[in-house]
Amino acid sequence: MEMMTDDGARETLKPLVFRLHENTPAIVREVLLERGWTEFDQKEQDDADWNLYWRNSPFPMTDHHSIKPWQRLNHYPEAVRITRKDYLARHLKRMKGAYGSALYEFSPVAFIMPNDYIKFITEYSKERQSVGRRSSYWICKPVHLSRGRGILIFQDIKDLVYHHAVIVQKYISNPLLISGYKLDLRLYVCVTSFCPLTIYIYEEGLVRFATEKFDLSSLDNIYAHLTNTSINKYGASYRTYKEGVGCGCKWTFSKFRSYLRIFGVDDVLLWQKINNIVILTLLAVIPLPEASNCFELFGFDILVDDEFKPWLLEVNYNPALCLDCSIDDAVKRKLLHDIIELLNYKQIDTHRQNEMPGSKAVRRQMPWRRTSQSAPEKAPGLLSCRKVSTLISASPTQPTLQFASGSIHKVSTLTKKTPRAHPRETLTSQLREKMNMPKASSQAKTEARNKLTAVNSPFISAQLSRWSPSPEVCNYKLSKRPYFLSDKDQMPVCQVGGFVLIFPFNEAALQASKDNIDVKSIIKEINKLMCKQNSTRERKA
Ligand code: ADP
Repeated sequence: MEMMTDDGARETLKPLVFRLHENTPAIVREVLLERGWTEFDQKEQDDADWNLYWRNSPFPMTDHHSIKPWQRLNHYPEAVRITRKDYLARHLKRMKGAYGSALYEFSPVAFIMPNDYIKFITEYSKERQSVGRRSSYWICKPVHLSRGRGILIFQDIKDLVYHHAVIVQKYISNPLLISGYKLDLRLYVCVTSFCPLTIYIYEEGLVRFATEKFDLSSLDNIYAHLTNTSINKYGASYRTYKEGVGCGCKWTFSKFRSYLRIFGVDDVLLWQKINNIVILTLLAVIPLPEASNCFELFGFDILVDDEFKPWLLEVNYNPALCLDCSIDDAVKRKLLHDIIELLNYKQIDTHRQNEMPGSKAVRRQMPWRRTSQSAPEKAPGLLSCRKVSTLISASPTQPTLQFASGSIHKVSTLTKKTPRAHPRETLTSQLREKMNMPKASSQAKTEARNKLTAVNSPFISAQLSRWSPSPEVCNYKLSKRPYFLSDKDQMPVCQVGGFVLIFPFNEAALQASKDNIDVKSIIKEINKLMCKQNSTRERKA
């Protein structure tokens, strides 16, 4: 990388350095090498001469304590507080108690076994006894396992068997289906600071399909009920062409949202609700122990039901970065590039360039980033509470946050893209133009819209469930259109690559998330935001 020195001379900086712990997915190394980084070599380099340390498990606290200003760790201490199923259930239950179940009703009712056994039996019996009510389905998941291992779905309690700690959760038995196949969403969320809370959501993501048709009469068919790729890639239908879904078991969000729009589904409303879920979930684990210079990439699993209500299934620590198909490659590679942009090394590495012994010795010209990539935008976060408050007042270069209202703050550098609410008609007509939409789809959409009263209706999901989309439907480019549909005064305008800042979303939320984070005030702001979102929707309907 070349930089201008104070006296105007060009100076080539030494490349950024990464450290990988064992079992780090290969794509992390690939992306960093693509960006011109070099791998840390303990024999050759000073102990502190690295910029990013990536590992799949939590870091020892000594690594947190000895962190240098130019270094970043990919985990926060105790981030597992929301990534273990039982911990998450406990935190969300506490939040329901404190702030009302209406706000936190996005997570299916859950019981932690064996402790909650009596409570579960009481709920189960109550349901069974209520006349005219169809008894629920339940899903039992081991708390310490992932990738669909050890999961059991049941309706009758006599089928419930467990040997270890599990959670028993209400099974969402009316999922949105596309051509009869169940799906869920793997959403990438990057927290660059827990204090002040700074949350970015990745616009692109993965839709993961089951590979056999959904059928409540065969609860033990994992290929029909579980959407984990780790399971479905071994299914008999994985490679075959499945009507409506295609081969394999993945789509991108862009493709999914394109399909929703064809049917007149308000995907922006759906994404707003998902954003709210992400914020409310992360608030449940606050405060985490103070730690600077870390970030956390979470994988949120969201199931959408046939009324287009999103449900949080779980939050993943180390979301899978393996590449099972070309869709994985496209989404995850770009995701990793964008994470590095978000970390803003161009700004933070100056300390290492100046302070590390021999830092100017290696004068190699490195390709800082691929030519196709756009200039990095600066991002907030990655600072401990104390540092942030100092920097906000002290440093002219420190990016902070700016909201569309024009209020605050030093993040003017962040505001490259200004999401603006487009009327839905414009979006759909753009989409139609881009997609050269087949007549039948257009009719289906009009029909669906006629029946759509206020919000997304089950009528549309029934259509989606039966529909076989034509292959020529193309992807609608997410980044070319506004992410948030919103009240102009509320929404942030910060986007770094595919990452969009969703929290803080206004000045009050920012203030409440600093120092001694004031969750109550933040919840108040979220309630206000949700009211505004609802009234905007009602006006449009
Ligand atoms: P794991 O960590 O083992 O992947 P998840 O909670 O993500 O556990 O569940 C695995 C899969 O099971 C999900 O991807 C989803 O398809 C299905 N699933 C999990 N919980 C529910 C639920 N409450 N309702 C409906 N489907 C569920």
